[in-house]
Amino acid sequence: MAKKKRVITALACEKCKERNYSQLVAGQRSAGSLHLNKYCSRCRNHTMHKETK
Ligand SMILES: [Zn+2]
Repeated sequence: MAKKKRVITALACEKCKERNYSQLVAGQRSAGSLHLNKYCSRCRNHTMHKETK
């Protein structure tokens, strides 16, 4: 039985570096950086979030 590799990545605010979101991602998907416009509770605003580990 093939074991699926899953990686937990976090989405960190690019301004304050706070990790606001975490998600499970299939291992082979999106090795590159992902940028999302998300709400940051620390900045109290929508900021760009970058996928990190
Ligand atoms: Zn922030």
